[in-house]
Amino acid sequence: MTWQGRTITIIGAGIGGLALAAALRQRGIDVEIYEQASAFARVGSGIQMSPNAMRVLRSLGLEERIRANAFQPQTWDSRDWDTGDYTNRAKLGEGTEERYGAPYIQMHRGDLHEFLAGLVPDEIIHFGKKLTHIEDRADGYRLSFADGSTTHAETLMGIDGVHSIVRQHLLGDEAPRFMGRAAYRTTFPAHLLGDVKIDDNTKWWGPDRHIVIYYTTKNRDELYFTTSQPETDWTTESWSAGGDLEEMRAAFAGFHPEVQAVLNACPRVNKWALFERDPLPTWSKGNACLLGDSCHPMLPYMAQGAASSLEDALVLACCFDELGLEDAAEVFQRFEALRKPRTSELQLTSHQNTFMQRRTNPDWVYGYDARTAALDSE
Ligand SMILES: Cc1cc2nc3c(=O)[nH]c(=O)nc-3n(C[C@H](O)[C@H](O)[C@H](O)COP(=O)(O)OP(=O)(O)OC[C@H]3O[C@@H](n4cnc5c(N)ncnc54)[C@H](O)[C@@H]3O)c2cc1C
Repeated sequence: MTWQGRTITIIGAGIGGLALAAALRQRGIDVEIYEQASAFARVGSGIQMSPNAMRVLRSLGLEERIRANAFQPQTWDSRDWDTGDYTNRAKLGEGTEERYGAPYIQMHRGDLHEFLAGLVPDEIIHFGKKLTHIEDRADGYRLSFADGSTTHAETLMGIDGVHSIVRQHLLGDEAPRFMGRAAYRTTFPAHLLGDVKIDDNTKWWGPDRHIVIYYTTKNRDELYFTTSQPETDWTTESWSAGGDLEEMRAAFAGFHPEVQAVLNACPRVNKWALFERDPLPTWSKGNACLLGDSCHPMLPYMAQGAASSLEDALVLACCFDELGLEDAAEVFQRFEALRKPRTSELQLTSHQNTFMQRRTNPDWVYGYDARTAALDSE
């Protein structure tokens, strides 16, 4: 009971920041969150929540709400880009629930974000606070924001994404690696496809590029796709940067007619440069620590970036609550020891981009239980 009544300061109200805030508050630990955006926006993107992620969301009390809104696919297919031949047909649905004790879900990322935000009171999220500088003090950290304001943090969590300022302060300058690739992605109304029928979730594998297409809503009225293709001169990493529809369609010329139908039907698209980073030597220094994309950004090829941020959040909340450690630095060391082997493996496997292309046993990914992982450490 050493952390109840103390406050943890979180930079970043993304998936990981909100999940950690909710998990800590469930355990009676106070939180303040500082977010650079002036408000939350529902930016067009789908997200796949595999059973390992759904177990975390269940522990936060969100499972019913997600089931009521989101799409539960029956299959996850891999197909050749031009012939459409199936190279792997993984059955999801009830079989997945029986095997892993939790469903596989596809949903709008904005809905997930909104559900997580709903777990945290408005007054602890400080919008329009872009962290610009951190000063080490004997009793913690002095944080400076772009609007000229400052605040004090005794214990600091950097959950500020792939270009993390907290990471830079803890570990020095080292830019994430631009992969020379970009992703188009968008959600759009499924009726724009007309009579074309598509499967629940398909990854179309080309020689040097791919596209993933799936439904995001329970009643199949919204479609999502995300791509990856070589693009050496596009380095903008923003959820809202627009992409050119004709350039995108040209990049996937020759793909199967089902892919062409989806690309032709979509009315607008966003474009996002792809970055990654090798596993870091350490995630924490003193009473400050990283979590999620700030310490283990991965290419989105296994759909495990947000899932691993959610896992991090539950494991760390359990470490604060259950290890009986008063010193934040010790809590962070235990957290990193518990999590880094798995996130490093996910980073590497995402980089390889072969997961599920052919028959694959995904037990090590989907079977992970963050709650048990934390308890096992005691
Ligand atoms: C195309 C694409 C598809 C993806 N699909 C999936 C998927 O299907 N499943 C999956 O699990 N993952 C997916 N991911 C990965 C997933 O989106 C990320 O891994 C996840 O969002 C990481 O969470 P996070 O909280 O660490 O960072 P983020 O969610 O990026 O949150 C970081 C937050 O910090 C804020 N911030 C940044 N800098 C500052 C600052 N200086 N001061 C204050 N606030 C700041 C940001 O505004 C943001 O709110 C995908 C990623 C991409 C690019």
